Amino acid sequence: MWPRPPSAPPTNVSGRTSDPTLLGLLATGLIDLMMPPVCLSCREPLGSRDALCAQCWAEVDFISTPRCDRLGIALPYAAGDIMVSAAAAARPPRYARARAVGHYRGTLQRLIHGFKFRDHHDVRRLFGCWLHQAGNELFAGADLLVPVPLSRMRLLQRRFNQAAILARELSQRSRLPVRTQGLVRTRWTERQVGLTAEQRRLNVRGAFRVPARELPHIRGRRVILIDDVITTGATAEACTKALQTAGAAEVDVLAVALVSEPLRVTT
Ligand SMILES: [Zn+2]
Repeated sequence: MWPRPPSAPPTNVSGRTSDPTLLGLLATGLIDLMMPPVCLSCREPLGSRDALCAQCWAEVDFISTPRCDRLGIALPYAAGDIMVSAAAAARPPRYARARAVGHYRGTLQRLIHGFKFRDHHDVRRLFGCWLHQAGNELFAGADLLVPVPLSRMRLLQRRFNQAAILARELSQRSRLPVRTQGLVRTRWTERQVGLTAEQRRLNVRGAFRVPARELPHIRGRRVILIDDVITTGATAEACTKALQTAGAAEVDVLAVALVSEPLRVTT
C-alpha cells in the first residue's frame, strides 16, 4: 500500500531498479562492497541502496487522499470523489491538477536540500520512484514531461537543473518523453526564498517562454510540468501560462514536495 503504512520496512522505500542477471548481481555486489549502502537522508549504514532507514522513512510526510484535485493539498476529510479546496475555489490555478509526493518538511526537506545544494544526487532514483507513484493519475493521456528551467546564470552556478534530473528519472518509469528545453527563462529572477506570495508572483511573471523550435512539440499536447518544490504555485502558474500561450492542450504539475498551509492559502 502506498504512500504509507508507517510500519513499512525500509526496503519498501527503495527506488532501485535492479538488474537480475548474474552479471548485474555481481556488479551490484561489487558496488556494495566498495560503497556500502547508506540511508539517503542520515547516511547511517543500511542493507539496501536507494532507500531510507526506518526513522527517516517515518519522518516523510506523504500526501495521500483525501486531497484537493486542483492544488494537490491534503484535505482534512473526504467529501466526494473529486474535491476542491477553498483555496482552489477562491483562486483556481491555471494548471489542471497539481500533485506532490509529500509536504516540504522533515526528511523530504532534508533530501531536497541535499539534492540541490550538496550534490546528493543518489536520491534521484528514489525521487523518480515516488514521483511515479504520486503522479499516477496524471499519466493517462499525458504526452510529455517538461521540467521547470533554471536561468543560464543559475545553471552555471549549480551545474545541473534538479527539475530536469527528476523529469529524466520519471521518464524512465512513465515512458513519457522529456523536453528539457520545452521551457526557457526569458530573464533573471530573484531567488523566491523569503519573498511573499505576491512578490513571488511578480518575480516570475513573464519569466518563461517556449522557444520557437519547441512549439511543434508543445502545441496541442498535454504536458506534465516537473519541479522539485511547489511553494506558492507562482512558478508553476507562470510556466503554465507560457505553455498555454504556446498552445499546450492541458498542463498538470508534479513535484516532490509541496509547501502547505498557512503559506499555501495565501497564493
Ligand atoms: Zn536515515
